[in-house]
Amino acid sequence: MSETIFSKIIRKEIPANIVYEDDLALAFRDINPQAPTHILVIPKKPIVNLDDADLEDHALLGHLLLTVKKVAKQLGLTNGYRVVINNGTDGGQTVYHLHLHILGDRPMGWPPG
Ligand code: 5GP
Repeated sequence: MSETIFSKIIRKEIPANIVYEDDLALAFRDINPQAPTHILVIPKKPIVNLDDADLEDHALLGHLLLTVKKVAKQLGLTNGYRVVINNGTDGGQTVYHLHLHILGDRPMGWPPG
């Protein structure tokens, strides 16, 4: 896949407000938050999106979900939160490096826009 802004954030070439990091994943605050708390959880492995993930990524995908849970707890989202993966054009994906949005600290509507 081609480079994205998230590759530069992983390599610390551009700043980000990082809230969690381990060997496989990074979590940082979204630059254009859609909720009082808006975090992006990304794999360090450059996977384009969910369509680009395959069987060899199954443990990594599980790790990302458990990272969401860990970060939500760390940030005190005790009243709940929403997890979103935008996949491809119709999914509204704008950065082509897999990421999970965590949106919290306000009630979410349904259906999403
Ligand atoms: P998508 O629309 O692809 O699901 O989400 C991409 C997200 O990345 C958007 O919410 C956007 O605000 C965020 N974003 C784009 N560029 C940057 C950046 O340079 N830094 C940070 N922290 N977030 C970014």
